[in-house]
Amino acid sequence: MSPRDLPIYELESPIIASLRSRGRLIVQAPTGSGKSTQLPQMLLRHGLLDGGQVVVLQPRRLAARLLAKRVAEEVGAPLGDVVGYQIRLESRLSERTRIRFVTEGILLRQMSFDPQLRGVAAVVFDEFHERHLYGDISLARAIQIQQTTRPDLKIVVMSATLDTGSLKDYLGPCDLLVSEGRSFSVDIEYLPKPVNFDNEPVWEAAARECARIAGRVDGDMLVFMPGAYEIGRTVQAIQGDRTLRDFAVLPLHGELPPEQQDRAVARYDTRKIIVSTNVAETSLTIDGVTAVIDCGLARVARYDPHRGINTLLIEKISAASADQRAGRAGRTAPGVCVRLWTEREHAQRPRQELPEVKRLDLSEVVLTLKASGIDDVAGFPWLEKPDPKALERAEGLLADLGAIIGSAGVPPATHSTAAGTTVLPLRKITEVGRKMLRFPVHPRYARMLLEADARGCVRAVALMAALTQGRNFLLRAASRDVEDAREDAFGEEHESDFFILMRAWRHADKVNYSLEACRRLGIHSQAARQVGPLFEQFLEIAEKEGLDVSERRVDGAEICKCVLAGFSDHLAKRLDTGTLRCELVHGRRGVLARESAIQKAPLFAAAEVSEIEGRGGEVNVLLSLATAIQEPWLKELFPADYTEATGVVYDESAKRVIARRERRFRDLVLEAKASADDVPLNEAAAILTQLVLAGKLKLEAWDEAVEQWITRVNRLAEWFPELEVNPLTEADRATLIEQVCYGETSYKGIREKPVMPILRDWLTAEQLAVLDQYLPERLTMANGRRSRITYHKEGPPVLSARIQELYGVDGRFTLGHGRVPVKIEVLAPNQRPIQVTDDLGAFWREMYPKIKTELSRRYPRHEWR
Ligand code: ADP
Ligand code: MG
Repeated sequence: MSPRDLPIYELESPIIASLRSRGRLIVQAPTGSGKSTQLPQMLLRHGLLDGGQVVVLQPRRLAARLLAKRVAEEVGAPLGDVVGYQIRLESRLSERTRIRFVTEGILLRQMSFDPQLRGVAAVVFDEFHERHLYGDISLARAIQIQQTTRPDLKIVVMSATLDTGSLKDYLGPCDLLVSEGRSFSVDIEYLPKPVNFDNEPVWEAAARECARIAGRVDGDMLVFMPGAYEIGRTVQAIQGDRTLRDFAVLPLHGELPPEQQDRAVARYDTRKIIVSTNVAETSLTIDGVTAVIDCGLARVARYDPHRGINTLLIEKISAASADQRAGRAGRTAPGVCVRLWTEREHAQRPRQELPEVKRLDLSEVVLTLKASGIDDVAGFPWLEKPDPKALERAEGLLADLGAIIGSAGVPPATHSTAAGTTVLPLRKITEVGRKMLRFPVHPRYARMLLEADARGCVRAVALMAALTQGRNFLLRAASRDVEDAREDAFGEEHESDFFILMRAWRHADKVNYSLEACRRLGIHSQAARQVGPLFEQFLEIAEKEGLDVSERRVDGAEICKCVLAGFSDHLAKRLDTGTLRCELVHGRRGVLARESAIQKAPLFAAAEVSEIEGRGGEVNVLLSLATAIQEPWLKELFPADYTEATGVVYDESAKRVIARRERRFRDLVLEAKASADDVPLNEAAAILTQLVLAGKLKLEAWDEAVEQWITRVNRLAEWFPELEVNPLTEADRATLIEQVCYGETSYKGIREKPVMPILRDWLTAEQLAVLDQYLPERLTMANGRRSRITYHKEGPPVLSARIQELYGVDGRFTLGHGRVPVKIEVLAPNQRPIQVTDDLGAFWREMYPKIKTELSRRYPRHEWR
């Protein structure tokens, strides 16, 4: 069949017409229709590229390479000439390349370095239904670029299955072209009863099913397995089955050398069985398949909250994915699909995968966006908005890694607006952040690799990165025998749990992952086996970016510093030596895992932080994979986050002001020392004054007499402005209290301290004399008695006296040379006021005669004149 017969050609004219007029297009057609291989060629042939390139974004590296190769063959040019590809660790490109297949962050990075997207005439987003993070984000960026600097840029979104409704709105105005394609019916068979792959390995179940249906179908078979290791085992199992000996068995996955990948999609005279990852689900079409064996598993990238990174773990695929896999059996003739699970189990599978934007850690893309000058990532036109918490988490991590920084250099706090939304102050990328972007790995490891390069331990860090990606291979809760064997094999360790993992992996590698040898040490050999290829990958990435990956002896401390660089947000401080309780940065608490070897370090960084719900519903934070950290490293690596400060505070229990010397890493207090010595006296006085003003401490000597004195001074200032006495304001009062407190650091010191001497200093000697003369405390009356005068903040001064004390006194009183009239409060013998008057003459005349009889009867022992 010539490519020209492929169903996509039914849409050729509308595709070209649409792109000429609009520049945005969605093409929806089933797998195998010719979208990936033919559409880029159409653009080229019809002159839509105008001398530029079409960049085709693919979710999978293997697909990008194989598609490039296929299209190069169809065009009749060597790979890397007119048609090329560019994936994470390799590329085949030239000056002449017009069709370029790329993966992951390559396009997004190009957009950030060159927002003009020079030389690119069209961008094609392939396999968009998979909703890969980079697809979503690169599409949003492409739209921005088309709306601003490049209105001529052509954007095509291609998909096998899609809820094209929302996408069409998002892209609008935009055309949607649909091809029904051609397909045949596929019979779906389930297992009659569930299989536990721990008992019957998945490869054996798959080989058994291949053998069972081999006689029933004519064409080739396609087996889906989650990863390279399972594929290898399946190939062996099939080759070991005599009923299947006429089949050529071909593995297909990304870790194979290119020649082997090519072999899997080549044509043969014999029947073949291809054992593939989900790259064959929709990305690649393999002709001639009429039977599919689906194990129902795939490696799925997901944010792992324990490790704080994205991990690839094997999970059950969704029903939608399973339907796509089944469809591969009906491309050229009716087919059959065997699912290695039961129909009942099928009903419990999720219908659809969550888009990656909803389940991955966003820190790497957030950093890329910031590198493009998009600081407000929440306001970015996402096709589907990520959870605001996920964005906050990503920004928080990037800030802790030193990759972004708040505008004023302080870690910005979140705050809520009236609308209830959280607003993040915009944080910008730093120099470190830009360097980190060179490494296409999770930002934690990018930061660690940078650190490792400076410290000559890139190999160790690459291995640590590989060790944390997959499932834990060093089993927990091992028996006594295993523990002893481990101690013999790995020795003692006090620096980092990573070092034990590294030794365990080296051991497993040395014994070639022998099940028996691994079991003795409690090593999951299959999980350990997966570390090697990842290690190689990380090394390649490091080497490609010019890091020194040579083997050399390094100090453990240097490696531990790299762990700190990547996991500073997991820094923990032991609260005591008796328990394993810890305090972490960002106000969290946790408990160090009992099996950690790092039991003595007062500070450590945990590479794994898991929240475990306890019986009572309380959440325990378990810290594992610990690395001992020395405090000076914090200052060395994160100088801006390490603070030493002396604070002066009032110690309630000691009732004194003390000096607190504190060392902090971010919000975590590393050590606080209190001392009563060396307290700066002016700070002590200020603190004591605040407490006195707030009413928390009382100056016993500051009594009513003192208040009267202050009132007298203030009234003197008011009534006799010519004396130029300064009135005492509230602020002056604080100053005076501070003067009383000065020189003291404890409550004991100020409690009974006299205050009058300090107050009297407020006035000059002259003013003092005038005060006593003009506004005296007591007044000598005509009968020779001295009576107390009370001064108030408002109104006249009041002289209070019992009737008996007033005999022989008459008329009005004044103070200050007659300028201040005095009110007289006449008291009964029981000190109760009888009358307030400013003229005693009136009292004697009018009031006194009326009350005298009554009072004299009540108080017969007093004198009554
Ligand atoms: P789509 O993207 O719509 O799924 P493709 O463009 O990938 O379709 O494939 C269209 C057809 O081209 C396939 O059905 C197959 O026949 C052929 N084809 C694609 N890639 C290869 C390849 N590497 N080797 C052989 N044939 C291929
Ligand atoms: Mg395709």
